[in-house]
Amino acid sequence: MPSRWFLSLLALAWMLLAAPRTGAFQWTLVNFDNRDYVPLAEVASFYGLRLGAEAGGPASAPVTLTSPGRLLRGNVGSKEFYINDLKFILSFPLLAAGDGFYLSRNDLTKLIEPVLRPEKLRNLGAIRTIILDPGHGGHDRGARSASGDEADIALDVALRVRELLQRRSTGWRIILTRSDNRFIPLEERVQMALPHRDNGLFISIHFNAGSGIGTGIETYLMAPQLVPSYNGDGAPTLAELQRWPSNARDPENMALATAMHAALLSRLPPLHDRGIKRARFHVLRENPLPSVLIEGGFLSNAQEAALVASPAYREAMAGAIVLAIENFRNATRPALQPLAPDAMDRALRAGNAAEPKVSVPNAAN
Ligand SMILES: [Zn+2]
Repeated sequence: MPSRWFLSLLALAWMLLAAPRTGAFQWTLVNFDNRDYVPLAEVASFYGLRLGAEAGGPASAPVTLTSPGRLLRGNVGSKEFYINDLKFILSFPLLAAGDGFYLSRNDLTKLIEPVLRPEKLRNLGAIRTIILDPGHGGHDRGARSASGDEADIALDVALRVRELLQRRSTGWRIILTRSDNRFIPLEERVQMALPHRDNGLFISIHFNAGSGIGTGIETYLMAPQLVPSYNGDGAPTLAELQRWPSNARDPENMALATAMHAALLSRLPPLHDRGIKRARFHVLRENPLPSVLIEGGFLSNAQEAALVASPAYREAMAGAIVLAIENFRNATRPALQPLAPDAMDRALRAGNAAEPKVSVPNAAN
């Protein structure tokens, strides 16, 4: 709980950004430390979920929101949040105050809403162009390992994605920011995406390196304005105050990251799930297309590097990226599935139904 909080109950007829509803839902905005929060009880009622949480419990009390087929769970004071077992990192921790539990308004509009109702995204044309961005290249080798360099592995995965997409449909326009081993500055990679802002998705492919014990996969999307980067030290930065081109795509970015991470978890061998995170990487920050950056495993971990080096792993990763693209396109195309219960929910369950995930011991955060 914040040390100094003050409660100002403003009964506002506040429309969710992507929710043209008939009859406005009455949200109660509560201000803690100059940030807007909404009661979880109202989140539950808006989405038809049942809130399970015990007032007056421990500082890290568990909180659940459930319905048949859906389980959202987190802990008071924590940013870790799960939707049908898919791990998200909230922009701000869940709070408890008095008898109530609270979620930041930012997390409601930029995480919960696009994940639970991707069909409400209004900002999206028909998806036709896929821009694949294998990281690094040329003199920039990225992370290195005995099993290979990040630059080469990322390119191999991108080429496999292109091949799979072409095989599945001739309708895609597929653009690679590089299709051989050359160095392309980050600015140029974004430049290549700009002409396709109305119908494209941008997918950057990377592999991780860390100080020995890092393991697992993670999916990054651009951090919304005033939201700290996952890797930040907590101190507000100038970049955080600024609104960047990609911030016009906050909800779409989250829906794409969700589809991507669920697909990676469902198709790859069980690896540590590092979650869906936010950062201001150049290719995300400057990008007016819905965009994500995938870290597909740790090359600094010898075991994981050997796994990533295998053609089977790279093919599975390429297949996951294709699945994510198709799930995103289907989930955000409301006119084509008026009766579908919720395509993203199905995608999430598909991810959830994968082989049981094994937490690798010694996992870094
Ligand atoms: Zn990289």
